[in-house]
Amino acid sequence: MQLKTKVPFFSLQEQSTALKAEVLSAIEKVIEQSDYVLGKDLVQFEKSFASYCESAYALAVSNGTAAIYVALRALNIKEGDEVILPSATFSATALAICQLGATPVFCDIDARTWTIDPADIEKKISNKTKAIIAVHLYGNPCRMDALLELAEKYKIELIEDAAQAHGSSFNKQKVGSFGSMACFSFYPSKNLGSMGDAGAVVYNNPNYTEFLAAIRNCGKNFKGEHEFLGFNYRMTSFQAAVLNVKLPHLDSWNKRRQEIASFYKNNINNPKIEWQESHDSAVSVYHLFVVKADSREKLMAYLEEEGIGYSLHYKEAVHQQAAYKDLVLSTASLPITEDLFSRCVSLPLFPEMTLEQCQRVVEVINAY
Ligand SMILES: *Cc1c(COP(=O)(O)O)cnc(C)c1O
Repeated sequence: MQLKTKVPFFSLQEQSTALKAEVLSAIEKVIEQSDYVLGKDLVQFEKSFASYCESAYALAVSNGTAAIYVALRALNIKEGDEVILPSATFSATALAICQLGATPVFCDIDARTWTIDPADIEKKISNKTKAIIAVHLYGNPCRMDALLELAEKYKIELIEDAAQAHGSSFNKQKVGSFGSMACFSFYPSKNLGSMGDAGAVVYNNPNYTEFLAAIRNCGKNFKGEHEFLGFNYRMTSFQAAVLNVKLPHLDSWNKRRQEIASFYKNNINNPKIEWQESHDSAVSVYHLFVVKADSREKLMAYLEEEGIGYSLHYKEAVHQQAAYKDLVLSTASLPITEDLFSRCVSLPLFPEMTLEQCQRVVEVINAY
């Protein structure tokens, strides 16, 4: 009997090996400079990443969750304020809101694109609403035209959670450049990942710089004074040095992700399997390739048997998780979100996948 090709859900091994020499020499340079925190590499990364996002500024922080927290603080979101977000996201989006004592107000998603539904946002805006967080889920940009219109109409802030969408665009404009703030994570498995934890806030208004820098650094402002409470959200220079090596590769990695996603869409022809569509003006960078199956349990057991790796993003929507249950304002359900999170399975997708591995995934899915 011929052995079946096994396909891992995800692997960083090939990328790490290919970049190892370059990363080691970048880290060696940091050691020679000995500027381990808020050093030269960090300043350089902030410049290059802002410019990559077609934005004026980037402030590097310790992780993506911290990025959302400092962005909300800079926009003066506080206890009693409401922040609108999709429940179809990683829980960190809601966590940062709760850390501030503000209230997360969960919205449903669009049935085709699986990103926040502008019509549902409009129903949930109240006189306490201070901001909307647009999550570009699985790398697929939200309807930024509609969201900008809502923010303008109701005079509320628009924040992007672009932790899964480094390099994706809407109307030929890069994500990260639309709202008052955009938040990125460089967790190792993201489209642009460090070798540890890291994150950034990207923005255009220079008035935010001093406040953001202070929040990141225990509240210490440019004069060395502490006017308010910050925290330690600093990114280390080693992570910045790794990111400086990796950023020039991001576009080619994203292109590979797009090619693999196209290959799946062009070749999977099983009516039991549905996938995320992009809006006509949106270009996704496919952080993940998530499908909706007729039965998640059946598909998972089958993939297991065939040696195809998979994962769940996520097992539950945020409003269904125990930690957030008491915080849910509305008793109304979020039917499209709940349907997605009861049936979603993430298939293998990473830039270093071989054609043989992609073909094997298609073959297995079509035979399901
Ligand atoms: C990864 C992620 C975050 C959090 O980033 P960390 O670096 O893990 O703190 C926030 N939002 C979304 C949508 C994410 O995917």
